[in-house]
Amino acid sequence: MSDLLVFTSITEFRAYRAKLKGSVGVVLTMGALHAGHASLIVRSAGENDVTVVTIYVNPTQFDNPEDLKKYPRTWEADLALAKKSGAQAVLAPSYEEIYPDQYRYKLTENVFSTKLCGAHRPGHYDGVLTIVMKLFQITQADQSYFGEKDFQQLQLIKDMANTFFLKTKVNACPTLRETSGLAMSSRNVRLTDAGKEKAPAIFQALTKSSTAVVAHKKLTDAGIEVEYLEEHFNRRFVAAFIDGVRLIDNVEI
Ligand code: AMP
Repeated sequence: MSDLLVFTSITEFRAYRAKLKGSVGVVLTMGALHAGHASLIVRSAGENDVTVVTIYVNPTQFDNPEDLKKYPRTWEADLALAKKSGAQAVLAPSYEEIYPDQYRYKLTENVFSTKLCGAHRPGHYDGVLTIVMKLFQITQADQSYFGEKDFQQLQLIKDMANTFFLKTKVNACPTLRETSGLAMSSRNVRLTDAGKEKAPAIFQALTKSSTAVVAHKKLTDAGIEVEYLEEHFNRRFVAAFIDGVRLIDNVEI
């Protein structure tokens, strides 16, 4: 296994990128890597000559300062998992370097981004689309890999890449789950033991209910606070709070 190169400087990363030969795949993450992230990295490594993992907890996509503060950070373990999964480089930029404009410039979508998570997290998708555009520009990747767990995000990024004729292809990857059915998420580590027992009810309700209304009621009855539970394009989407931790999931119906 070759050594993992770790860049915190965008300038130094770009010098490295300019010398790379062959295809480059990128996996964008906010760190606290788990097996779901690893599955994206493994796929990229199988399909590209070089895989870059970005680790950046993007403040502009957090509508809740407490959520940003409590976002788990596991730097050393992240580097080890990125390397083991087949990445050659990690880019973890500073706010100052990636937002030289202090976020004066942003990218906005006005229709789908106002639904589901967008309806409850003001500015969230502006932050997501802006950081993805920046990271696509910096990495100049041929391919990128995103999880269906964040289905609305994936769809918005795909549309953005088409709209702006970006060279980076956007690939969708299936959601990795615990054996209980709970979708893997960096936020799961913030659940209490009682919360961990409750959380698989989310996937159960999504997959085992005749309608969205029934699924919503099942979660409420289980003491889970539902933010939304809706169906769009043949998928059922949920956002719910357990122990004050916001969890999302979606399945095909
Ligand atoms: P995050 O670090 O949460 O921003 O996620 C980085 C990427 O990993 C996104 O494309 C997510 O959709 C993807 N991802 C997160 N959790 C999972 C999962 N359980 N299965 C597959 N992909 C995931």
